[in-house]
Amino acid sequence: MSLVQQNKSTEFIALENQYGAHNYHPLPVVLNKGEGVYVWDVEDNRYYDFLSAYSAVNQGHCHPKIINAMLEQAKTLTLTSRAFYNDQLGQYEKYATTYFGFDKLLPMNTGAEAVETAIKICRKWAYEKKGIPETAAQIIVCDNNFHGRTTTIISFSNDEDARKNFGPYTPGFIKIPYDDIPALQDALEKNPNVAGFLVEPIQGEAGVYTPQPDFLAKAKDLCNKNNVLFIADEIQTGIARTGSLLAVCGNCTCSGHCEQQKTYSQPDILILGKALSGGAYPVSAVLADNKIMEVIQPGQHGSTFGGNPIASAVAIAALEVVKEEGLTLNARKMGNYFREKLSEYIKNSSIVSQVRGKGLLNAIVINDTPDSSTAWDICVALKENGLLAKPTHGNIIRFAPPLVINQEQLDACIAIITMTLKDFEK
Ligand SMILES: *Cc1c(COP(=O)(O)O)cnc(C)c1O
Repeated sequence: MSLVQQNKSTEFIALENQYGAHNYHPLPVVLNKGEGVYVWDVEDNRYYDFLSAYSAVNQGHCHPKIINAMLEQAKTLTLTSRAFYNDQLGQYEKYATTYFGFDKLLPMNTGAEAVETAIKICRKWAYEKKGIPETAAQIIVCDNNFHGRTTTIISFSNDEDARKNFGPYTPGFIKIPYDDIPALQDALEKNPNVAGFLVEPIQGEAGVYTPQPDFLAKAKDLCNKNNVLFIADEIQTGIARTGSLLAVCGNCTCSGHCEQQKTYSQPDILILGKALSGGAYPVSAVLADNKIMEVIQPGQHGSTFGGNPIASAVAIAALEVVKEEGLTLNARKMGNYFREKLSEYIKNSSIVSQVRGKGLLNAIVINDTPDSSTAWDICVALKENGLLAKPTHGNIIRFAPPLVINQEQLDACIAIITMTLKDFEK
């Protein structure tokens, strides 16, 4: 990299540092182009993207079909607000509810908004359908959850950075350990006013914690027995990422809703975001059946941009791509292959203690303390070698490439990762 070129990155980084709030700590790389599994920096270096914008870009960067749907719609009609009908929203709602097997969809924009929406629906259902005394509803959540950044959501986080000095906190949440059925049973027995159980099928931000294979099915069962809504936050795990259309689909590889899913733990409320647009536009959604969704009536919830024509057209295209390109099965095959290869490597490794995950949502655990800089240093070295990844919670590195990755590309990435790790072996 020549000095002149390096100055280009440095300048863009300096701009963000000077004029932007410092609410992120990015890897020192400035990107200006993406295509499929690749992104390029302003010096024209090419990288494999192993973050995929936190699994928003499952369909690959700038997928032509998604971009085309966005451009066509942008030229025609962008926003009407929900004060009027538009010709795209109903088509999208029909497509997505059929795709995922629910009666109704409530459209929002960001993931956090969709989680907020799910919480509101759950509480209202509790008072109007379950008969919980007003303002007494409780929602059970898990330790080390990540559901977004709003005041209410961070109220039930246990990440100090996310919480500290943002109080007073929203009440009404009970925290239990993740992947702990007895704890869930206990919380349900002790609290008659539980309205819902909000859970990530795999805890992505916490470090790709994958629960016992029967955790979701058992949790769903307990929720049923206690007349409590089972709410799945699939913003990161959903839309083929884990080798199933949804992580709650267990081991089914169909690319749309099907009845054969023996291991399917159908959520009462499903929360989607991120890859719902293939990363082209902020699109999120809450799905539920009529008996739940009907608690929301005109004027009780909304969003100016939610369900806008661009979002609707983009989401249909993004979901079609998942089906047409068989991304579910590809994520499963490539994921198995990736973990197999990395497991071989770590047999003789002192720097990596574990590889875990499902489909193409994986992580390695670095054999050092969470407050050490080793994982960060490895990510900087990976970047130098042409692959972008980011540490999550200190000593864990998440590997989540776009689901369009093929075997040849994945082999090249495994070579980069193992070669880089070798330099850090003691
Ligand atoms: C990213 C994420 C969110 C928040 O989505 P935003 O679009 O960033 O608001 C919520 N839940 C999970 C599981 C996520 O991964």
